Amino acid sequence: MVAEFNRVQTELGRETMGASTFRRHLEEHFSRVSICPHKEDYCDKCKALGTDMSRCRFVIRKITESGNSSSEKMQPHEKELSALTKAQQGHLQDAKLARNFYNKMVARCKEQWGRLSTAEGATSTNRHTFTLVLSADYQQAKLIPYWGRSPQPASTYYLSKESYDIFGIVDHRDDSGHVRLFSETIGPKNTDHTVSLLQDYIEGIKEKYPWLERVLIFMDNATNTNKNRYLFAWAMEQVKRDLVGSIHFCFLVAGHTKFAPDRLFASCTKSYNGSDIFNIVELKDAYAKHCSVSVCNETNIHPWRKYLGQCYTDLPGVRSLHKFLIVRGEGDKVIFRVGHMCYDPQMDSGSMRMISTIDTAVSDQSYTVHQLPNTKLEDITQMCHRFIAQSRWPTYVVPRSDARLPSQAAHDRGTERQNRRK
Ligand SMILES: [Zn+2]
Repeated sequence: MVAEFNRVQTELGRETMGASTFRRHLEEHFSRVSICPHKEDYCDKCKALGTDMSRCRFVIRKITESGNSSSEKMQPHEKELSALTKAQQGHLQDAKLARNFYNKMVARCKEQWGRLSTAEGATSTNRHTFTLVLSADYQQAKLIPYWGRSPQPASTYYLSKESYDIFGIVDHRDDSGHVRLFSETIGPKNTDHTVSLLQDYIEGIKEKYPWLERVLIFMDNATNTNKNRYLFAWAMEQVKRDLVGSIHFCFLVAGHTKFAPDRLFASCTKSYNGSDIFNIVELKDAYAKHCSVSVCNETNIHPWRKYLGQCYTDLPGVRSLHKFLIVRGEGDKVIFRVGHMCYDPQMDSGSMRMISTIDTAVSDQSYTVHQLPNTKLEDITQMCHRFIAQSRWPTYVVPRSDARLPSQAAHDRGTERQNRRK
């Protein structure tokens, strides 16, 4: 980050900064921003256990070195180390079993689908036992305009850009990727987006294959968008309304959830990183090289949480659960069951209950649209006028006669911001 900052400073003919000074400035001016290490393959629990174990080993070594390693002095530390080791083994074993279960379900979906696709395999029994397996996740939001191919004009570094959220589904019938993009103007992403997009996808398949009854969805443990009562209440609604007969959610072990959507996003990001992307069509095109993509507007997202929150009770202890099964029971009953590990067949009755009926067609309701903040709109308009050919502007940017000369405007903006910082 310091290097990047200094590069920009050099380009602008300004002074560069040492790492410690940079850090001090960052703390002073951006106290709410923290820099964290690269999150890939990072698990809080593994990290914490690892730290505790090395502390234990250190203490044991010190006692041994002191020559006074009486058993009563040593014992508590050895006991702790053995407990930690056991905890770590258990955790890694859970992660491995969950991973194996995931791979098994993915392979089974493909195999079952393959059989259904043959003339003799398309029997009603095979249809009945088929489980559609999906892996769904959000990618980190992308900003537009984005300079990935040509060098980014230095004065645009500080300007605010429009943020796009990316929801990806991998369909394990054939491992195809399906991405939905939506602007911050119908964000920020939450469970409304997750369930609206999942429902839309499943409805699309049901149109072609009305006999589909079972869906299994793998997601990561993010509580704000995925693992919360709205997701499960939504599934109860869908089973009650006969979208499908059962919806099954599985969550891999937190910190060990690298799965199919990550691979899809990684290939999309390669195209994104190598392109200049100035509007949503260009973002869509970059992703379309790797999967099917569509851009959502407010009519694609529905305010589910508002209704589900009123009609279903809370679900305490959701964090420790990794398996949720919503299945049609006798009559119009919907059964909700939960389990601690996704690979474990053991399940208990879930405590969430429906308390009243949703009497609205939620799927007919559009989501609330926010305007881009004025400062952001102004920043984007400035960037377009100065650095982007008009044919590539986002549609909402209006040509202005008073647009200043690029160099002058950039200079003014830079000075302005410098002054503001002082
Ligand atoms: Zn871990």
